[in-house]
Amino acid sequence: MTYPHVILNNGVSMPALGMGVYQSKPEETTTAVVTALNAGYRHIDTAAAYFNEAEVGEGLRRADVDRADVFVETKLWIRDYGYDEALHGFEKSTRKLGVDQIDLLLLHQPLPTHFDKTIAAYKALETLLADGRVRAIGVSNLSPDELDRLMADTSVVPAVNQIQLHPFYTQPKWRAANDKHGILTQCWSPIAGAYTYNGNATNPFTEPVLVELGAKYSKTPAQVMLRWHLEHGFSAIPKSVKPERIVENFDVFDFTLTSDEVASIDALDTGVSGSIDPDSLTLEQHGMPIPE
Ligand code: NAP
Repeated sequence: MTYPHVILNNGVSMPALGMGVYQSKPEETTTAVVTALNAGYRHIDTAAAYFNEAEVGEGLRRADVDRADVFVETKLWIRDYGYDEALHGFEKSTRKLGVDQIDLLLLHQPLPTHFDKTIAAYKALETLLADGRVRAIGVSNLSPDELDRLMADTSVVPAVNQIQLHPFYTQPKWRAANDKHGILTQCWSPIAGAYTYNGNATNPFTEPVLVELGAKYSKTPAQVMLRWHLEHGFSAIPKSVKPERIVENFDVFDFTLTSDEVASIDALDTGVSGSIDPDSLTLEQHGMPIPE
């Protein structure tokens, strides 16, 4: 069993499969992180706006692994955009996580109403990269157009664009833009969590294509979806707080899907997002402060 890694555009190696902790309650997060690391995960994705960075940090310390062996990824929230604000946001995150260096730091969202602040925050990420405080920098939820605008005013091509992507929402245009620039596509809601917790009628776990492939390989539909991400060369960060699911979601390295099987999953795309339009976020409505 080999744990696949992806090489980012600055040469940094990142475990392709990580565990996400969005909506993991603080009191559940440390145990989930410890369970994941002890099950073999070496990549955790959190964010300042998940309000559980301290509990992630506690999990990093409690698990039976060295900090240096874990790829720690977090995101700066829109309230901390602007150059000085972003540098301070980084300090808040490192303090809560209890780490000196972050492996991958992303801008969590574009802020279309204040794109100048988005750019200034990214410039702060460039400074942190140059100073060795982060090993790689990137973005999340940036459209092809927004990527172009960001890159026109900054120097470092983002290593990653983390976007909603799963078999029911495969984002061909956004993937193509990422590929064109050498930006790795990292998939949030990789097993269509945004569909399940937002009440979309599509139930990913009863989809016949996924159920049949699962039966063929003795895997669950969730595992088939995660394997599909790996076949595409994406990074995927499934979330769970349930120990058996955390283990299940990592048990995807002992089978492969054929190109026809990958295509049959690609064909499940509905083009329907399971979440709000990332461009609809505003500081006024979504700019909650991130505590010290
Ligand atoms: P997801 O990982 O696709 O799905 C998570 C949901 O599925 C949870 O309700 C989880 O519940 C359940 N689940 C997990 N494993 C399962 C399994 N094997 N079988 C059945 N159900 C399972 O969705 P997500 O949390 O939205 O996305 C994953 C990560 O992406 C997040 O945690 C976060 O790190 C990141 N993310 C980023 C953004 C962004 O804007 N950048 C947005 C959303 C998410 P239980 O916990 O109860 O198992």
